[in-house]
Amino acid sequence: FHHVTPFIQTYHNKQQQPWIQLAGHQGNFKSGRQHGTILKKFCAREKEALEILMDDGLKPYVPKYYGQFKDDEGNEFIELEDLLGHFSNPCVMDCKIGVRTYLEEELMKAKEKPKLRKDMYEKMCLIDPTAPTLDEHQLRGVTKPRYMVWRETISTTATLGFRIEGIRRSDGTSSKDFKTMKSENQVKESFSSFMNERSDIVKQYLERLYALKTALAQSQFFSTHEVIGSSLLFVHDSTKASVWMIDFAKTCPLPEGCPSISHDKAWDLGNHEDGYLIGLSYLIKFFEEMITD
Ligand code: ATP
Ligand code: MG
Ligand code: MG
Repeated sequence: FHHVTPFIQTYHNKQQQPWIQLAGHQGNFKSGRQHGTILKKFCAREKEALEILMDDGLKPYVPKYYGQFKDDEGNEFIELEDLLGHFSNPCVMDCKIGVRTYLEEELMKAKEKPKLRKDMYEKMCLIDPTAPTLDEHQLRGVTKPRYMVWRETISTTATLGFRIEGIRRSDGTSSKDFKTMKSENQVKESFSSFMNERSDIVKQYLERLYALKTALAQSQFFSTHEVIGSSLLFVHDSTKASVWMIDFAKTCPLPEGCPSISHDKAWDLGNHEDGYLIGLSYLIKFFEEMITD
């Protein structure tokens, strides 16, 4: 593996094309068994989502799913279309969509025996010493559910319904320092540096985002699932641009008592709203503002 930054790994696949991973654990991906595919560490929830998606109106907006695979050491993977395979020297951006990035069940579990966590208090203080309450300062601890809810407010996740996870630009530079990017202007500046004055590329992204929005409105999958921690992966090179939905490890069928969600209303524990369309609308708005002519 050739490391470009401590966080963003690129390596050469079988076709000697550089492959770029902007998020997730380094060991979670490897080159696929066939031309134009990659292997991602197996997750049952993600496999189930992909199986349904291959038979849904969203299929054109999702990497093709080629099934499961177990290597000689017994490690299990899912095999996916390599979305970078269609591009040469691609620019890539991962935006994690939604107003929260944890499942309601994860928050409920954290609420079961809420112990005071010194480590979480300290992490909180490092990012914003004014974030803990007086009580929390005195106890030098915060509970995990409190920390989980707070963490979504240090980026644009809670306010804009998306956050940038990583960017790799055309000059080869990349960044992952978006964890605490909170202001609209910072996000817009990051988008500008990613687009590098290419209005035509912005327009291609927009066409695709409009089409995705329409497909989401008609999708059986989208109307019956809570989509948490999933990203839109933006990829372009000097001539073309496209965007896909990726990462369904936290995408779940809605529970029985909750037959539908709007995807664009505020979240309260129990209503299962994910804010997916809030994020998509802001993305579309910011991209529209980048078109100058
Ligand atoms: P996390 O949950 O931390 O976001 P993860 O391990 O679930 O990470 P993904 O989010 O699915 O992994 O993917 C991580 C990165 O790998 C993406 O940001 C993207 O750069 C790259 N990637 C994932 N899937 C594909 C694909 N099908 N084609 C090309 N690149 C991909
Ligand atoms: Mg991801
Ligand atoms: Mg994931």
